[in-house]
Amino acid sequence: MARIRLDHIRHAYTPELARAGNYALREIDHAFEDGGAYALLGPSGCGKTTLLNIISGLLTPSEGHVRFDERDVTELSPELRNIAQVFQFPVIYDTMTVRENLAFPLKNRKVPKSEIDRRVSDMLRRIGLEAKADRKAQGLTADEKQKISLGRGLVRPDVNAILFDEPLTVIDPHMKWQLRSQLKELHRQFKMTMVYVTHDQTEALTFADKVVVMYDGEVVQIGTPEELFERPRHTFVGYFIGSPGMNVLQCRMEGGQAVVGEARIAMPGGETPLAAARTELGIRPEFVRLVPRGQGLPITIDRVEDVGSERIVRASLFGQKLVSVLGEGTGLPSEVDAVFEPHALNLYADSWLVERRPS
Ligand code: ATP
Repeated sequence: MARIRLDHIRHAYTPELARAGNYALREIDHAFEDGGAYALLGPSGCGKTTLLNIISGLLTPSEGHVRFDERDVTELSPELRNIAQVFQFPVIYDTMTVRENLAFPLKNRKVPKSEIDRRVSDMLRRIGLEAKADRKAQGLTADEKQKISLGRGLVRPDVNAILFDEPLTVIDPHMKWQLRSQLKELHRQFKMTMVYVTHDQTEALTFADKVVVMYDGEVVQIGTPEELFERPRHTFVGYFIGSPGMNVLQCRMEGGQAVVGEARIAMPGGETPLAAARTELGIRPEFVRLVPRGQGLPITIDRVEDVGSERIVRASLFGQKLVSVLGEGTGLPSEVDAVFEPHALNLYADSWLVERRPS
């Protein structure tokens, strides 16, 4: 297992794209700690697969270095990096049995037969396929095949990290949850460095200890699910994580207050950023309370949606959209104002969070 260090990585797919300043990865300078479970989360085209391929060695970055612990592996092939990969579609041999599939990577590495038998039996048990060990892989379901792909990675003794590229894409929705929790359990048992690419926030937040949010070729935040929810470092994180996403209201700062239309909102810490082209106030819909008229900021309700046990109230505050989520049993006054819970207010300057001054 290894710590994976991405040292000032940039990547453009062709020299022409580089000359035009068109980088698929603009600047990545981060480390994945040994034994951590990470998710790379972001919308289509933000550079997740490019980054994963740079870690595995399928791609050499245009600039920067990849290090496994202290070793520079930038120029090494995937085989020499000892990385296991699980792709969208299971990569297994259909004509081999489950057992043979699991044994294959070990045979290739000339592991002694007794150790192969021991490791394969152990893996069959861990991935729950003991009963089907001697069946040909051909007839198995997509999730069983994906478990074999995973098992083939985990069965090796020499793996530095295991990389997943949207591994649940072909899995039936009702099996996804089960496979995801098994993955998490396997991570707990093996403590292997795992990097999991997805554009699905539920997958990312349930699998990973740390989520790496990417946007437009950059990492905009690495954090625990709680950190991403409570203190999004970039307005994109606020919008992308959470359902519905964070409210982002254009504002100007005046004497420690955020001014939205005619509303004035005192900011904790009284932040007044200087020299920003754009300032915005962020507040999660869960922290916008609706109170009787006259007791808060004046809003107009545009629509109320019932979603299971919650109600989503879509409103406007001086012409800007504002969403509030009401939990079960919370009343909705007929004439309403909005109150923002002070602890949940975030201020953004040119899309980046203005860190609060320690109080
Ligand atoms: P998705 O979720 O759709 O797979 P992604 O976040 O994995 O997206 P990448 O596939 O890494 O994104 O793509 C990042 C950028 O690089 C995109 O703008 C994409 O068009 C571009 N790109 C990817 N592969 C190539 C390639 N082989 N040649 C040129 N440009 C590419």
